[in-house]
Amino acid sequence: MKFNTKTIHGGQQCDPAYGSVMPPIYQTSTYAQSTPGGHKGYEYSRTHNPTRHALENSFASIENGKYGLAFASGLAAIDAILKLLKPGDEVISTNDLYGGSYRLFTKIYKDFGIKFHFLCMENVENIENYINTNTKLIWVETPTNPMMNIIDIIATAKISKKHNLLLAVDNTFATPYLQKPLDLGADIVMHSATKYLGGHSDLVMGALVVNNKDLADRLYFIQNASGAICGPQDAFLALRGIKTLHVRMQRHCENGKAVAQYLAAHPKIENVYWPGFKNHPNHLIAKTQMSDFGGMVSFTTKGNNYKKAIKIIENLKLFTLAESLGGVESLAGHPASMTHASIPKQEREKIGVVDSLIRLSVGIEDSEDLITDLNQAIR
Ligand SMILES: *Cc1c(COP(=O)(O)O)cnc(C)c1O
Repeated sequence: MKFNTKTIHGGQQCDPAYGSVMPPIYQTSTYAQSTPGGHKGYEYSRTHNPTRHALENSFASIENGKYGLAFASGLAAIDAILKLLKPGDEVISTNDLYGGSYRLFTKIYKDFGIKFHFLCMENVENIENYINTNTKLIWVETPTNPMMNIIDIIATAKISKKHNLLLAVDNTFATPYLQKPLDLGADIVMHSATKYLGGHSDLVMGALVVNNKDLADRLYFIQNASGAICGPQDAFLALRGIKTLHVRMQRHCENGKAVAQYLAAHPKIENVYWPGFKNHPNHLIAKTQMSDFGGMVSFTTKGNNYKKAIKIIENLKLFTLAESLGGVESLAGHPASMTHASIPKQEREKIGVVDSLIRLSVGIEDSEDLITDLNQAIR
């Protein structure tokens, strides 16, 4: 099965009870047993739920993996990965990453004795300088949020395998439409399904997909033991969202390109961050590991003018000022005060998250309307 077909049929079967084409929302906490242990595969909905099960199969299918797991949020999914570790273990992470991931690492897991190294991974060789006998996990986000840096997954996977580490990739920005980390050598692929997979800004959810049976068993154990599962209603919505992932992503990419090119040519705009530009520092790696460049575009105003940036954001009419990304509607965000406010200013600015940086999640409206809106807001 090819990708577009998988988004619709991957891991799915018609409901055995009445043949309903969409999986029913099994809104139940528990399941009748005929005799102790005599059940039909489902005992309690923290452990298993048929709607969630259908979604987990879909996650696995679209990421070319064997095992899928659905969680209450993207951060709950990352939390489950970190619970594979023990005090004293060390993690090497991208330094330009989602603020909530950074917060979970430094404000929660650091206190449980796990050590995190945040580094610029655009130069992959840099990673080996931080590997020691305690290192267990490499955490990669690519493209990074919000600077749109690209990290070479194949090269990172080689290092990870050589040292017998786990490589986890946050694939939220790219989605499997553009990039399949497991195929490139990663051990775990993670999603905030809140974003492009759900695609309609109507749910919060996380996903993990792996190929290794032992790793899957450990993660299923954590999912059940810690209990950060998603409910059946949200599982249904995410399944529905995934069915149009390919057509939405195609348009996100077209519109992202149009908006990035418009901004790059504008005299009042300083820098535009989008991996599709030939002069993007890692354009060639993006071209190898991604099939297109996505709908996320970040930019700064001339002279890093904070007041002008805020004016632009306030003047936008079609782009809604909001946290999150990946929905059908276009959103604008101000990372320094919103998504990345939990990263200290000094750390933020080192990676380019300056006060005039605006991040756009370009939706699937008509690109002419989006550009007209940006034009009036920047003027
Ligand atoms: C939103 C996001 C997360 C966190 O996901 P939630 O669903 O909000 O918990 C993690 N990584 C990236 C790249 C994100 O954009």
